[in-house]
Amino acid sequence: MKKQIYFLLILLAASLLFSFTPGQQPNKTTSKDPAAFDYLADRFADIQVLRYEVTGFEKLPLKQKELAYYLYKAGLCGRDIFYDQKYKHNLRIRKTLEGILETYKGDKSSDDYHKFENYCRRFFFSNGNHHHYAADKFIPECSYDYFARLVKNSNQSTLPLEGKSTDDFLKMMQPILYDPNVDKKEVDLSAGVDHVKASCNNFYENVTEKEVEKFYADMKDANPADRSQLGFNSKLVKENGKIVEKRWMIGGMYSPAIEKIVYWLEKASAVAENARQKSAIDKLIGFYRTGDPKDFDDYCVAWVKDTASRIDAVNGFIEVYADALQKKAGFESVVSMKDMEATKRIAAIASQAQWFEDHSTIMNEHKKKEVTGITAKVITVIGEVGDAAPATPIGINLPNNEWIRQDSGSKSVSLGNIVAAYNFANSRSPLIDEFGSGKEVIERVKKYGALASDLHVDMHEVIGHASGKINDGIAPTDVTLKTYAGTLEEGRADLVALYYIMDPKLVEIGVMPSLEVGKAGYDKYIMNGLMTQLNRIKPGDNLEEAHMRNRQMNSAWVLEKGKTDKSIEKVVRNGKTYIVINDYAKVRQHFGELLREIQRIKSEGDSLAGKNLVETFGVKVDPELHKEVLQRYAKINVAPYYGFIQPKLIPEMKGDKITNVRIEYPTDFIKQHVEYGKEYGFLPISN
Ligand SMILES: [Zn+2]
Repeated sequence: MKKQIYFLLILLAASLLFSFTPGQQPNKTTSKDPAAFDYLADRFADIQVLRYEVTGFEKLPLKQKELAYYLYKAGLCGRDIFYDQKYKHNLRIRKTLEGILETYKGDKSSDDYHKFENYCRRFFFSNGNHHHYAADKFIPECSYDYFARLVKNSNQSTLPLEGKSTDDFLKMMQPILYDPNVDKKEVDLSAGVDHVKASCNNFYENVTEKEVEKFYADMKDANPADRSQLGFNSKLVKENGKIVEKRWMIGGMYSPAIEKIVYWLEKASAVAENARQKSAIDKLIGFYRTGDPKDFDDYCVAWVKDTASRIDAVNGFIEVYADALQKKAGFESVVSMKDMEATKRIAAIASQAQWFEDHSTIMNEHKKKEVTGITAKVITVIGEVGDAAPATPIGINLPNNEWIRQDSGSKSVSLGNIVAAYNFANSRSPLIDEFGSGKEVIERVKKYGALASDLHVDMHEVIGHASGKINDGIAPTDVTLKTYAGTLEEGRADLVALYYIMDPKLVEIGVMPSLEVGKAGYDKYIMNGLMTQLNRIKPGDNLEEAHMRNRQMNSAWVLEKGKTDKSIEKVVRNGKTYIVINDYAKVRQHFGELLREIQRIKSEGDSLAGKNLVETFGVKVDPELHKEVLQRYAKINVAPYYGFIQPKLIPEMKGDKITNVRIEYPTDFIKQHVEYGKEYGFLPISN
């Protein structure tokens, strides 16, 4: 059965982004940046858009460039799928926006039009009209009347009218776009609701949460030996009183897009670097043809075994964040090349996996006797699509299916050029000056913050998720811990990272110069977990997203411990709140204690303790502190979210042969997405 979330979506440091006034041209990079690459691209709403550089691509042999190009195309062909998965009206909205952007004949310099463009930016950024992180619906700032005028003054043949008159079409679109209470949450994790009914994603129709749970429990009962991720690649629908799965496959749901994916994968298979890689790609093609979850497992096993290839790709239905029940997986693609130099750092950590397991604070019976198959590397991202873009993970640990992880291991990667782009942006952020608790802390974070983040990601992905085991006879965590599984798993992986980043072992193996790095890591983590991440949510809201919950849970838990031993405390100076760590070694001990407890909860499937932990420390927001954080943020104008414009791969042809693949770095966020829509819009508006 399905396991949890292995993507580390965003890390503390990565949230520290310098920002620009909307409409202002992005800054050119200064001489401080050795590569002189222009990282900063666009700024709107709560978003900073960056670019990333694919260093070393030109030097790849032609065959590898060709392979990367085919995999890149295969990914883009699935872009529509993720839009549709998130909300059944997303493709309808997107085609409308594209039609207006391309054919509207009126004034494009007015305030209203800029507001419309801003809505388009936000829509493309979120792959739909629900916030990419908070999952709640956002509304255009231009009025509905203005929007109606845009529609009427655009080329009607470019709009998805489906035989309707323009007026009827607008009538249908008004609540979809403008009524905040219609399809309010893409995914609703709040306690006490029917999570299926309350979420407007397109994974279920006419079914209740209970019916979904029963459907898959029955399926499991009918075939207990089946260890595949039941239902991860389908929509569950009740038709004429009967519940059926509509699988995402060739000949099934999303077939027009999947056929194109397969077309490019077949080309990729023909130029694979080696037999293992070819076998993996062929198995992925096989899965897209059969739609059988067991075939996806076969593919994952083959994919994990391919460790020698320079070019690699994630392609498929991978993460389950968009489904409150954590069963249905969103489409994504990440194409990459191995960064040979940087891989040495992560390899040094991975080679000590058994040492970390043996010296962990978790109970002996929860330790793995042999930690197997951790493959760690740093990758240079070439292109991302779907659930991985424009907002991107910075670390990936796949596959998600626990039995494959246990039997065959997993691949753990850090997205090196993405992290480099963040580090560049962070180096210009005024955030630490505002929230850092003192001069020493601020200077240490400036000096070691970037390295602390890199190591945190490495430890979280390579050691954290791979550590520990579930007791015999205990079900996987999506069964035992349910909606709390994601938060607890991410919390556990973070705690492994936090515990070891203050360990001399990391100095000894040569990945950091001193424990000062660990101290910088603690200050950043806790500052974010208790304060700065609150900038991402609206006044009155509690925390919903798993990573945000886990960071607050871990931080608030040690703060609570600090009440007795004063190792850490909250202080107010001149009306401003700061978190002060007085004793880093003691705080480390507390992280270790919490790690032990969360591992116990996971290993024993202690759902009540898991729920209590998350609800007590990870969900509720102090409204006064929240208000203060928002005010301090507003003063320094820092964007809480960021994402990327993707590089563009262009083949140079001689006849039908590729002679070279070039990379271009587009600068216009909207233009990129309009182009994508034209080139890769394979799905009908209703699926
Ligand atoms: Zn993680």
